Amino acid sequence: MPEKVIIIGSGPAAWTAAVYSARASLEPLVFEGAVTEENRLASTLPLGQLALTTEVENFPGFPAGDLSGFLDSAIDEKRRVTMAPHNKEGVSGPELVELMRQQAVNFGTRIITEDVVDVDFDKRPFRLTASDEKVHESHAVIVATGARANYLGLPSEEKYKNRGVSACAVCDGALPRFRNRPLAVVGGGDSAVEEADYLSKFASTVYMIHRRDELRASKIMAQRAMNNPKIEILWNRTLAEVLGDEQNGVTGVRLSGTAGEAEMIKEVSGVFLAIGHTPNIAFLKGKLELTEKKYIRRTAPARTYTSVEGVFAAGDVADDYYRQAITAAGSGCMAALDAERWLAARVGG
Ligand code: NAP
Repeated sequence: MPEKVIIIGSGPAAWTAAVYSARASLEPLVFEGAVTEENRLASTLPLGQLALTTEVENFPGFPAGDLSGFLDSAIDEKRRVTMAPHNKEGVSGPELVELMRQQAVNFGTRIITEDVVDVDFDKRPFRLTASDEKVHESHAVIVATGARANYLGLPSEEKYKNRGVSACAVCDGALPRFRNRPLAVVGGGDSAVEEADYLSKFASTVYMIHRRDELRASKIMAQRAMNNPKIEILWNRTLAEVLGDEQNGVTGVRLSGTAGEAEMIKEVSGVFLAIGHTPNIAFLKGKLELTEKKYIRRTAPARTYTSVEGVFAAGDVADDYYRQAITAAGSGCMAALDAERWLAARVGG
């Protein structure tokens, strides 16, 4: 029997879509992604980008404060990460997304911890191939695979990934190799400031390497960088090469100037990339129309429809603009409602 709806992804969009479709008796099946080294390096492990952030202060319903009662029922105390090292109460990104997952499970959502590696949207029901090579059929599909952090694509960056080069300060920043050492963050947006600010808790100095003479970050975040005595912004600079050796991994960075400045070398033991994101669409292999920026194109205003009827898109995989946990969750709800109505009208489901 084909599934009524398969949801691909495991961030706020996917779990919200699961909660809503489960409560609408669509018995959703979620592919949350596989736990592999490849996914770890690409920052595409289950639970998505929210699992790679620190405390979340802007998700309505989760103010800073004592949430232990809610957390007790969903997450084993040993696995909680909220408080350290901030010594402050409130929900963390990983906890928030685990709570969402648990909420979906409580309503009967089934989960497969594999990637979807291929889709056939030409036939109905649709056919999805998972990374364990099993094929699943479904009348409707919700794509909520999110986006991943970008790298510059330098050979030296690739060489030292995992040995000082990272795109996730929260995942890697507390490692001993980064403690009391100078570190570099590449980028000038909110993520770069967030990463630099976080790393400044461990590092001796954090160099923010930005290719212009003005930050893209919001005013409040930019001010946070300026006010932090451990953050030094290196304006008009790009990363030309990550320097290092076999024994120590990253030992420095070679920086070019973008406004005629001479090259510069800085000694650092870590390089964190914060230069934007790319949507996770490779498995679609061109079966859905994309926007110019390669995000899934939605085909009707204020709907989650895609170029294939019965396939819906939610969250960052179709959003290059808002990219917030709450907007992703909202669009996951919309996708579930769109799928439910579409199924009722077309498949009698
Ligand atoms: P972003 O706003 O797109 O910023 C990317 C930064 O990387 C820009 O400064 C950009 O430089 C730089 N960059 C891009 N490609 C580069 C390259 N090839 N070489 C060198 N530099 C490069 O991305 P983001 O910071 O990840 O933020 C994404 C969204 O999430 C935004 O809407 C942001 O507000 C939101 N966000 C919010 C928070 C928060 O409020 N706490 C935290 C994180 C993210 P240019 O400026 O020169 O283009």
